[in-house]
Amino acid sequence: MSVLEKMSSAEAIALENKYGAHNYHPLPVVLSRGEGVYVWDVEGKKYYDFLSAYSAVNQGHCHPKIVGAMVEQAQTLTLTSRAFYNDKLGVYEEYITNYFGFDKVLPMNTGAEAVETALKLCRKWAYEKKGIPENEAQIIVCDGNFHGRTTTIISFSNDENARKNFGPYTAGFIKIPYDDTDALEKAITSSKNIAGFLVEPIQGEAGVYVPADDYLAKAKALCEANNVLFIADEVQTGIARTGSLLAVCGNCTCENKCEKQTTSYVTPDILILGKAISGGAYPVSAVLANDAIMNVIKPGQHGSTFGGNPVAAAVAMAALDVVNDEHLAQNARRLGKIFRAKIGEYVLSSNIATLVRGKGLLNAIVINDTEESDTAWNICMALRDNGLLAKPTHGNIIRFAPPLVMNEEQLLDCIAIIIKTLRQFE
Ligand SMILES: *Cc1c(COP(=O)(O)O)cnc(C)c1O
Repeated sequence: MSVLEKMSSAEAIALENKYGAHNYHPLPVVLSRGEGVYVWDVEGKKYYDFLSAYSAVNQGHCHPKIVGAMVEQAQTLTLTSRAFYNDKLGVYEEYITNYFGFDKVLPMNTGAEAVETALKLCRKWAYEKKGIPENEAQIIVCDGNFHGRTTTIISFSNDENARKNFGPYTAGFIKIPYDDTDALEKAITSSKNIAGFLVEPIQGEAGVYVPADDYLAKAKALCEANNVLFIADEVQTGIARTGSLLAVCGNCTCENKCEKQTTSYVTPDILILGKAISGGAYPVSAVLANDAIMNVIKPGQHGSTFGGNPVAAAVAMAALDVVNDEHLAQNARRLGKIFRAKIGEYVLSSNIATLVRGKGLLNAIVINDTEESDTAWNICMALRDNGLLAKPTHGNIIRFAPPLVMNEEQLLDCIAIIIKTLRQFE
């Protein structure tokens, strides 16, 4: 088919089915345009986007400042590789390290690459600084984790679908329950060879599990006491999604706009970012750490052809500017409270929704059916018909994560759509 002909949804889906690997199971809706909190399908129907590309599009679709920076840089210089210097990377590195309060950044492209980078960095630090015997380092991870799709990362996943028949697996990981500091203490003190603790401040893919208020602070203290690196994967929770710049927050220079308000305020030793650091415009990820850790990496020991390219640098600076300029953390916090209050009120009298949980604008509704049922999927289909796009995370949990540029009127409109749709299933 010529690209000039207008394609129907059915035709677009048929093409993906025929020519693309079947590694996803998308909701049947074919999008061709986005602006702010809205997306449109090829037939012209308008929807609220309540997934935001898994929290990559926090700044809203096609934000003019981000797209403008991307176009300008794309017309000037796109890629030099790291074989040479370029005039954007250093500027970006200064910008992002100041923004998050770390000495250094290692730029990559995807979230999974950034997680891999953090694991390599942690292991190298363990051998060269902590003095763990070679090949003996152990990294503690949590049950229910999601850190990406590479062979090493799925080696420590609990998700059988993500793991099965992809072995042999990478060794060197210890799995403990999430939100369990006793289990962490036991694991951390079980051996002298513990190098790091990798954790999501909120488990997004698992179904938006928010740990106890003091979990992260206690976990960080245990790491510090045992000379173990606290590694925060904020690929999904970061960049204002949960109502603060980071879900753990840190010694960032965001001028306290994120209100250092809870006991969970901690500084990770290694911070992993991805998704929304580009506002969804371009694949950009980053690993941040201080010199004592980052300086163990020397030339030739890690890298990526596209990591830190000039377009990525320009896009990420624009996208992080937008977070501050438009007070997205504050907006996410305020609207998130409204969302949970209104949905929570509905849940009290509902027999289809049992619970709403989350932080900022990363929330989930638990559906009153089994993990294996298709009720949550069917609700997402009905939401689609009613003009709102969301996706189940696990069988019976639906995640709700709109772009953070949403206003209150739009949110109230969305809450009405969600409640109306859930009522159809009572
Ligand atoms: C999405 C995600 C990743 C992986 O990012 P990709 O860009 O898909 O590789 C890693 N960690 C968390 C917490 C994520 O949500």
